[in-house]
Amino acid sequence: MGYDDALTLAVTLLTRAPLFDGHNDLAWTIRVDRNARGDVVAYDLTRVHPEGDTDIPRLREGKVGAQFWAAFQPTNAPHPARTALEQIDLIRRVEAAHPDVFHPARSAADFARAQRAGKIASYIVVEGGVGLENSLAPLRLWHAAGARMLIPCHNETLDWVDSATDAPRNGGFSAFGCAVIGECNRLGVIVDGAHVSHAGIRRLLDVSEAPILLSHSNAYSLCDHPRNAPDDVLRRLKDNGGAVLATFVPSFVSQAFRDWLKGSLDAYGKAPPAADPKARMAALEARRGPAPRATLPQVADHVAYLVETAGIDHVGIGSDFYGGAQPQGLEHVGRFPHLFAELIRRGFSERDLEKIANRNLLRVMRKVEEVGERLRKTRQPAVGRIEDYPGA
Ligand SMILES: [Zn+2]
Repeated sequence: MGYDDALTLAVTLLTRAPLFDGHNDLAWTIRVDRNARGDVVAYDLTRVHPEGDTDIPRLREGKVGAQFWAAFQPTNAPHPARTALEQIDLIRRVEAAHPDVFHPARSAADFARAQRAGKIASYIVVEGGVGLENSLAPLRLWHAAGARMLIPCHNETLDWVDSATDAPRNGGFSAFGCAVIGECNRLGVIVDGAHVSHAGIRRLLDVSEAPILLSHSNAYSLCDHPRNAPDDVLRRLKDNGGAVLATFVPSFVSQAFRDWLKGSLDAYGKAPPAADPKARMAALEARRGPAPRATLPQVADHVAYLVETAGIDHVGIGSDFYGGAQPQGLEHVGRFPHLFAELIRRGFSERDLEKIANRNLLRVMRKVEEVGERLRKTRQPAVGRIEDYPGA
């Protein structure tokens, strides 16, 4: 099948079964944009942002029907509890500023409601349990404000959870960390192990009473970045009922790029803090020659491998747009149909692609809602702070 034919098919397929993308960092971009400084109206999502990768015209072009927006903050941001609230608020202001485009989505059922109204379902994930400031109470308030997923940590280990890209201190999750998982289960909030260490994801799979998500991670067997999921974790998603969402971050996609970067990163695959990451890359290129680019076909390789290992019912897409550089061919949110065209050319059936586009993630969300409903009948809210969980 020619590429154009496959692309036409992909657009048709995604028009019928629009993409539910699991991760986008637009909210942080609006916060740090020099002109907008957190003002969503000033940022103006109605125009194409050639300097960025996400805006309303290209979400439409990319057939995005639902999006988990990250209420992200770096671990070292001052005032973490306040920053988490500010980022949840920012996403809600995006929804309020464009009521004709975004449907504030708080349940799996909202996906169909948004689709019927011709809108994009807007979901909130808090990326950075650092905002809990070691207390369980903020979790319930985040849920009340609309958050339906928690990424316990970012690139650094916290007092209760080990990051994939930092030294472990908690055996994955400490006793307080397990209480966070339990309270998420009770609330019907998805726990997302994307940034958690491999040992931590295994612990999460042991402890969680509901399906889990790895919302922006690839296959460790194809690219050995610690942020990617090893085969044993992928296989366990079948019994757990969860899903892994393939991501576009170049150093999680391309082993060649990861190898090229080696020596410039710490033992956990993190770049040292740099005032100007672009200048840092330019200096590296001056010494090592041009960096190998990650590509769209390599992302498709990860999707195929994840399907082979975790099963077709346990894979989706979590682009991590606005999380950094992008692979060749997937430069902005308008490009999603090109990835599906590549998968069509590789022989994926329409039924399989609908699962990858939205069905698997929606099933995870529905199941997490059901578990929460059941648990709330018998279990009271978990209270307290980290010091109340001895042996943490
Ligand atoms: Zn992330």
